[in-house]
Amino acid sequence: MVEAGGTKFVCAIGDDRGSILVQARFPTTDPASTLAAVRSFFRSRSEEFGPLAAIGVGSFGPVELDKSSPHYGCLGCTPKLGWSNTDIAGVFAHDFHCPIGLDTDVNAAALAERRWGAAQDVANLVYVTIGTGIGGGAIANGAPIHGLLHPEIGHMYPRRHPLDGTFDGVCPFHGDCLEGLASGPAILARTGSLLQGLDPSHAQWDIEADYLGQLCAQLVVTLSPQRIIMGGGVMSQTHLLPPIRRRLRHWLGGYIQRSEILTDSDCYVVAPALGAQAGILGALALAIDAALAA
Ligand code: ZN
Repeated sequence: MVEAGGTKFVCAIGDDRGSILVQARFPTTDPASTLAAVRSFFRSRSEEFGPLAAIGVGSFGPVELDKSSPHYGCLGCTPKLGWSNTDIAGVFAHDFHCPIGLDTDVNAAALAERRWGAAQDVANLVYVTIGTGIGGGAIANGAPIHGLLHPEIGHMYPRRHPLDGTFDGVCPFHGDCLEGLASGPAILARTGSLLQGLDPSHAQWDIEADYLGQLCAQLVVTLSPQRIIMGGGVMSQTHLLPPIRRRLRHWLGGYIQRSEILTDSDCYVVAPALGAQAGILGALALAIDAALAA
């Protein structure tokens, strides 16, 4: 399976019980070089482990997931240089003649957290990642949400924090959408530092927790998830969950009277149980489902 990310492609071979047998990483450069490295990995490793039963691909987006579309499996407009319109699923179907399971990287991570991680007891959840970008995958009644395309949660517009009135934001499409204001590059552009490098008294901590609290509040009132899992580089190296939970309650304004949200318990907005492996295990879940459906 493949976790196709903006900075690296993680490739692995796993089994139907969720175990990863071998794993490798390749930097995301141009499509031809990166995909050649990935295909070479699977060709050589499938000689060792036997023919692949299926390939799961969890990809950065936007990506066409509608199987009736002639553009199925193709990336849409992405700021990642050279990758717009790349067919990210077809290359594997052509080479390996096995079922392909394709979804967004964040829908895949959400699937993995539900199957093996922090959301095994619920059927409706959202997985968000806050790192180089902000993305979110949503599971409704056990299945990833697709529709017109798929959710692009990172590009919603938060209300501006009072201490953040002049920053233009870094999203190449929207400027000051959530990704433009609260992703890792946004923090770096605003402060010149990663969040974990800033003094605990720096205003950026409040700004970041507020924007991510707004994100959670918007998710509660739109998708009504039973759990929100927050991963990614910005989350993994900081202690943002408690202030995010407080800002979630602030932005809901007492409107959603559920104990999961009203108390400071750590059972609603949580860290990924699978850590940085959520993405590649999500791709394994896609492969397992594709093999079963074939
Ligand atoms: Zn945006």
